Amino acid sequence: MFNALVKKIEQLAEGKRPLRFMEVCGTHTVSIFRAGIRQILPPNVELVSGPGCPVCVTCDEYVDRAIVYAQMPDVIIATFGDMLKVTGTYANLAEISAAGADIRVIYSPLDCIKIAKENPDKHVIFLAVGFETTAPTTAATILTAKSQGVRNLFFLSAQKLVPPALEMLLNDSEVRVDGFLLPGHVAVVIGVNAFKFLKIPSVVAGFEAEEILLALINLLTQIDEGRAEVTNEYKSVVKPEGNLTAQKMLSQVFCTVDAEWRGIGEISQSGLALNEEFADFDAEKVLPVNVPKINRRTPCRCGEILRGIVTPKDCPLFGKVCDPIHAVGPCMVSVEGICAAWYRFSF
Ligand code: SF4
Repeated sequence: MFNALVKKIEQLAEGKRPLRFMEVCGTHTVSIFRAGIRQILPPNVELVSGPGCPVCVTCDEYVDRAIVYAQMPDVIIATFGDMLKVTGTYANLAEISAAGADIRVIYSPLDCIKIAKENPDKHVIFLAVGFETTAPTTAATILTAKSQGVRNLFFLSAQKLVPPALEMLLNDSEVRVDGFLLPGHVAVVIGVNAFKFLKIPSVVAGFEAEEILLALINLLTQIDEGRAEVTNEYKSVVKPEGNLTAQKMLSQVFCTVDAEWRGIGEISQSGLALNEEFADFDAEKVLPVNVPKINRRTPCRCGEILRGIVTPKDCPLFGKVCDPIHAVGPCMVSVEGICAAWYRFSF
């Protein structure tokens, strides 16, 4: 089947102008590399990666704020492991942990409730980083903490929404994209309909090699027929309306706010903050701290890479001073980071 799909892509691409499709999600980036899809595409079909790795788009200032909290004697930081090596303007959480801060790696936000109950004399702060995929679990944790009367658990939210980022990309004159491979996991929550505002060919895709090839065939067919639609090639798990229970929980706990994306800048209404009703769980409101804004200049090109303008190989640091062990920028930190994926499958 794989070979037949590749052949179909070749047929559809023949005679067409150079086309660039963006896979928005970091999991797609890894699947594409693993299956060697970039290499077998016709020369006029290029895949570029987008801003779909939540760790990569978490800004310096957020990490700096987390570090300030981590250095407070009565605070325990709870976080997913990926966040430990993301650098702020001067350090990362792994270094602060090595220096004695109480930073705990968790596998689900719900683990925070147990930590909070076991440490009633401490403030437990969860670093809520992620897209629509993980936000419902964070919302469920906040609702559980409220219903159980847990009063020493707080959330530092840098959760982000994918559709506003895609809208920003389409309005960015430097970005040239002919179609989107839309993130399957995000679409499970928000549904295909949430992407209907896109005015270029776009396909919700699964993560197996064949599913990605089918999505590419869909994009090429749309271009062939002069259509620009949002379609679903992941019907087994993604519904047009998404997961209504998860959406209800999200709107109960969070509101949308303007948010800063690392290397990209502020995107209107692209972040999730806690609603007023849950202000008692908002770390920034309950435990305000001063975090100086520092403009750090490095040759890191994550901002352009996340917009699909250049590839990691265009960064002068790639593979020389920046690698997964010594990550300079956030795209090299997470296994789903674009630079980390390129590194893993290039060396
Ligand atoms: S290789 Fe490292 S420094 Fe260069 S863009 Fe990627 S993360 Fe940034």
